[in-house]
Amino acid sequence: MQSTDSPLVMIVHGGAGNVWPQYHTAAVDGCENAVSAGWQILQRGGTALDAVEAAVRVLEDDEAFNAGIGSVLNAQGEVEMDAGIMDGATLHIGAVAAIRGVAHPISLARRVMEASVHHILAAEGAERFAAAQGFTIIPNRQLITDRRRRQYEKRVAGQEGDTVGALALDIAGNVAAANSTGGVFYKLAGRVGDSPLAGAGFYADNRWGAVATTGQGEHIMRVGLAWRAMQALEEGATAQEAADRALAVLQERVPDARAGLIVLDRAGGIGIAHCTRDLPTAYWLSGAGRPVSALRA
Ligand code: ASP
Repeated sequence: MQSTDSPLVMIVHGGAGNVWPQYHTAAVDGCENAVSAGWQILQRGGTALDAVEAAVRVLEDDEAFNAGIGSVLNAQGEVEMDAGIMDGATLHIGAVAAIRGVAHPISLARRVMEASVHHILAAEGAERFAAAQGFTIIPNRQLITDRRRRQYEKRVAGQEGDTVGALALDIAGNVAAANSTGGVFYKLAGRVGDSPLAGAGFYADNRWGAVATTGQGEHIMRVGLAWRAMQALEEGATAQEAADRALAVLQERVPDARAGLIVLDRAGGIGIAHCTRDLPTAYWLSGAGRPVSALRA
């Protein structure tokens, strides 16, 4: 491997919640595939931004996760997705909310960041932007899997989670964060969660590190969960301390909270914390020959 100024770090999560036993392997394997995709980019000297986008695209393509194809259905039986991405070098943000008919919301979020003067585009406007930018618009039903259709028909909530997120630290010391989700099951049409909101669902700043959160968006946004972890990093906390402190604030202020987060500090440390039963994660750190994955931290 080439000599690095900065350690390389790639970490992904597959959503805070309860992963049913029959989906344990899919969740862990999916996280490993995604982290490997991002890691390959970092190893070649690619950017953190490219790495998090690539990792999240893998998770969006994987029907095991609540993002892209396989997103949960809203109360009308439709898929509406949110995604956000942030470049820690520039603090530029791109996000999309309540969008339909796009297989890779994370890439559309990145395009919002790079090809518009805005940071968040929602619903039809975001879809028109996607079409104008040459994204293929697919019939929304192509995003609906049998598993999610069955869940909708039986109205089985309770398997919250499966949202995805990724963080990376590249050879040049840049960090990036990305999130993608179908949101929460049986949400009202038009509902937007924390995932596309900087400070709630994600944050990245080269000076300190990067954060991606997951769980009930209505809980996460009330305390600005991602920002809480960033603040802890600024105060000198390690990534794990920052994750723990942010989660402690959430649990103190929102007692029934269901959430989790992954954190990366600029020294290359990682943190994982959750107050749900499960938070599938995988990470790959400089010097390691393979990724490390787990269902629970
Ligand atoms: N945070 C997502 C939302 O509320 C859901 C999740 O992470 O499971 O839309």
